[in-house]
Amino acid sequence: MLFLAGGLKIFKGADMNIVLATRNKKKVEEIKRIVKDMPVTIYTLDDFPECPEVEEDGKTFEENAVKKAKAVSKYTKMPALADDSGLEVYALDGAPGVFSARYAGGDADDKRNCEKLLNEMKSVSSENRGARFVCCIAFAFPDSRVETFSGYAEGRIGTEPKGANGFGYDPVFYPKGHERTFAEMSDKEKDRLSHRGAALGRVYDFLKRGL
Ligand code: IMP
Repeated sequence: MLFLAGGLKIFKGADMNIVLATRNKKKVEEIKRIVKDMPVTIYTLDDFPECPEVEEDGKTFEENAVKKAKAVSKYTKMPALADDSGLEVYALDGAPGVFSARYAGGDADDKRNCEKLLNEMKSVSSENRGARFVCCIAFAFPDSRVETFSGYAEGRIGTEPKGANGFGYDPVFYPKGHERTFAEMSDKEKDRLSHRGAALGRVYDFLKRGL
């Protein structure tokens, strides 16, 4: 039996089973890439089709991630990883924040969310266009303990969409120190700079300490 800092027991002999509280294939691939050299077996919600959907009604990314991870760990009786992420624009008091996915309305898509954002920022000067992506990952255990890991990507919002890679607000987000948007970068380049990459790096360190 191995122990993590704080006396948390997570691994006994064989691979540790972890269930990812998402059906998003991109997120699953990204997390599998990160833990590929570790003795863990990854399951997803596709392995638990009956697992109830969790409503993301928290006021913070952390609240949403913890709620999802706890619900899935309780249902599957396995350690569960969940994430919640979004964009915070300083000139808009942190909007769209936890509403990033549905900023332009309940049936919004990425294109319409970006259009709404650019529209809201029409009169914002170039020096006030700062923003950050935030990712919070929660790791919940069947004994109801939870660890959280946050990652950030600072940058600024452009004035028109650029690039065709990625998803969400990538075409309008310039990471700090770069003159290309996330949507103009390869997956690998974005992973190195992104909020999700940073949060997953912390999960990796945590797992490494415990396995
Ligand atoms: P969720 O974490 O899947 O709930 O994502 C919330 C929303 O935040 C997404 O639908 C995107 O609009 C936005 N978002 C989160 N991460 C990224 C990213 O890496 N690039 C662009 N948009 C993102």
